Amino acid sequence: MEYDFKKIEKKWQKKWEEKKIFEVKENSKKKKYYVLEMFPYPSGSGLHMGHALNYTIGDIFARFKRLQGFNVLYPMGYDSLGLPAENAAIKNNTPPAEYTKKAIDNFEKQQKSLGLSYDWSRKVNTASPDFYKWDQWIFLKMLEKGLAYQKDSAVNWCEKCNTVLANEQVHNGKCWRHGDTSVRVKHLKQWYFKITDYAEELADFEKLHGWPEMITKLQKNWIGKSYGTEINFEIDGKKWPVFTTRPDTLYGVTFVVISAQHPKLFDLVTLGQKKKVKDFVSNLSSVSQEEIEQLEKEGVFTGSYAINPINGEKIPVYAGNFVVADYGSGMVMAVPAHDQRDFEFAKKYKISIKQVIEGDISKEKAYIGGGRLINSGEFDGINNKEAMDLITKYLEKKKLGKKTVNYRLRDWLISRQRYWGTPIPIVYCEKCGVVQIDEKNLPVKLPDKVIFGKGNPLETAKSWVEVSCPKCGEKGRRETDTMDTFVNSSWYFLRYCDSKNSKKLFDKKKVDYWCPIDQYIGGAEHACMHLIYFRFYTKFLRDMGVLDFDEPAIKLFNQGMLHGEDGAVMSKSRGNVVLPEEVSSTYGIDTARLFLVSMASPDTDVQWSDNGIRGSSKFVTKFMSFAKKIKLNKSSPRVESKLNNAIGDITDYIENFKYNLAVIKIRALFEFIEQQEEMSKSDFESFLKLLHPFCPHITEEIWEKIGNKNFLSLESWPIVDKKKINDKFEKEDELISKLKSDIANIKKVLKKENAKVYVYVMPSEVEIYSSLKDVDIFAVNDKDKYDPENKSKKAKPGRPAIYVE
Ligand SMILES: [Zn+2]
Ligand SMILES: [Zn+2]
Repeated sequence: MEYDFKKIEKKWQKKWEEKKIFEVKENSKKKKYYVLEMFPYPSGSGLHMGHALNYTIGDIFARFKRLQGFNVLYPMGYDSLGLPAENAAIKNNTPPAEYTKKAIDNFEKQQKSLGLSYDWSRKVNTASPDFYKWDQWIFLKMLEKGLAYQKDSAVNWCEKCNTVLANEQVHNGKCWRHGDTSVRVKHLKQWYFKITDYAEELADFEKLHGWPEMITKLQKNWIGKSYGTEINFEIDGKKWPVFTTRPDTLYGVTFVVISAQHPKLFDLVTLGQKKKVKDFVSNLSSVSQEEIEQLEKEGVFTGSYAINPINGEKIPVYAGNFVVADYGSGMVMAVPAHDQRDFEFAKKYKISIKQVIEGDISKEKAYIGGGRLINSGEFDGINNKEAMDLITKYLEKKKLGKKTVNYRLRDWLISRQRYWGTPIPIVYCEKCGVVQIDEKNLPVKLPDKVIFGKGNPLETAKSWVEVSCPKCGEKGRRETDTMDTFVNSSWYFLRYCDSKNSKKLFDKKKVDYWCPIDQYIGGAEHACMHLIYFRFYTKFLRDMGVLDFDEPAIKLFNQGMLHGEDGAVMSKSRGNVVLPEEVSSTYGIDTARLFLVSMASPDTDVQWSDNGIRGSSKFVTKFMSFAKKIKLNKSSPRVESKLNNAIGDITDYIENFKYNLAVIKIRALFEFIEQQEEMSKSDFESFLKLLHPFCPHITEEIWEKIGNKNFLSLESWPIVDKKKINDKFEKEDELISKLKSDIANIKKVLKKENAKVYVYVMPSEVEIYSSLKDVDIFAVNDKDKYDPENKSKKAKPGRPAIYVE
């Protein structure tokens, strides 16, 4: 009964590769479909079953779409630059390039053994100069458009990463990679991408209906669009615009707060306060925007005063830990009477509190409700909601402020003080300043020979760093910062369309054909990093005229995580990892694939179970022995009905990523056809097609065995023949399954698992139930029936009586 799955897997993987059946070309006569999984970082420890689950989810979908007749682009590549690779390489005392190459080879081999239907000819590897050359090219284009710029500012620094981090990479004040390491603030000159220029468009999710709501919600919060008023406060004769969503409380402002990380903070600090402010700033740890709202507000007086433009009052300026430097102007107004945290701050630093909306203010609490204005000059008595607009209009008339939109999103810091990243194509010249490398001299390649140890190895790579200035030819020095690796993943999906182009980023015609991505698959943890960055790149490249669409991916699916048998997320450090090789060698990869997606809906977390996979294995083995003995001749109308009914459901389930339900349906269908001695070849083929996306190897094998010369992988998905669906049969089948479960229940209650079962049915129903095995069926009017307890009297149409002995 056993089948040689190892031989079958090898045979088909070899054939698929040799015949290049998954390699695709643009074809204007065929509708395209672009399926893409977020590409992996090729870790040295290789794939575990959790990865296998991710790729299986995508592969099932790609195979399904291919059978549906689409020209399917389904590529794979490696996000191989970056810190983890550099650190692992140092640890293993191997150059990162060598380490990465080995890891990629291993990954690819493992992925191929999973039977994934990638077009390997399009593979990208971000560590290859052929790839990162185009990172540099895009950088130069951004520089040209003023979207790449350098700024001296307070940045997030992780001691363990030994580099700065983007705001998106700071979680709860800790490094996103090092949950145990608090991020410190450092002042450095760094390169930024002006993603905020696209804030308005990024905050528009109109075209992202196919994305999970949770992701768009997270992005919306991150981008943080808010409408408000910009009000000019005056400090030492200079205008300081302050953004507020509460202009109605302007008369109640008793102090303003400037971000402790503001680049111009010290312009406001008086001599007497300098030491205090310096001490305060140096003790700050960096936190993300969300966390700022939870922080206990702390501050220090700068010694300066601001003039409230509406009433001319002189109010103190504080430096505070809770104001984001890049938010609006980096300064906020405080209204302690009507904001609880301002209230606490005012109490702590003994600042006056001035009520401007009618309501109860106690000793501990601000009044945060609405009401009529008081102590507000000519606006007294007006409802505060109305006053928002009136005060804004008043300020606009007097040129003291204006209505405006503000975003929480900040520019993307892309400089990293590490070796294993894309070099920034810039040279510093004493004479010419910041000089860009000419486009035709790209790529700026990473030097091979560097010394790892202290700091950024590029700084000590003398022969690489020291170059002549591209402008004047005098002595220059290369930029030693490299780019955040998220720049690579921001446009890799475009490169797949034309991965070998050495002249251009890509051929526009090719990208026009394949893009945008129809179905993107990846983890939800990228909501506010990669998934924002690649939208930004898409919009930038569109504005450059190199592509014609606005959003990179039409649909997004977030897969769940695979947990080990201990219930924790599968990871090497936990020691609960299941390796695909181990599972394949025991059960075969088709069984593993089937099991991975049958446990639960692919968007939820699932737990690995050694027991569970045995169930899938039993099914596959049973199917293989059935396939050997089934006579291909003619199907009964009942089989035809059942099959056509199932095709519709299974198609819907796969289309909507309800793989677990599709598997249940396939197995139920099989249980039925398993009882047949013969069926038509085309019906059997339809069943093979339904099973194929889940179990590609064995279905190809059987497909060939029954006399087909072409590949099942390139066949067409079965179409429902509604005429063949017979409601009567379907109803009868329901009756049979009901009877089956009744019998099972009775046996269970009586604890007689091996009992003999007799069933009494209406004479007209005998045929319906005749397919039941291990059961004696009698018509109630059968004179020779065995019925010692006269149970047959209880039978009714559609409700057989049961006797168990
Ligand atoms: Zn870190
Ligand atoms: Zn120069």
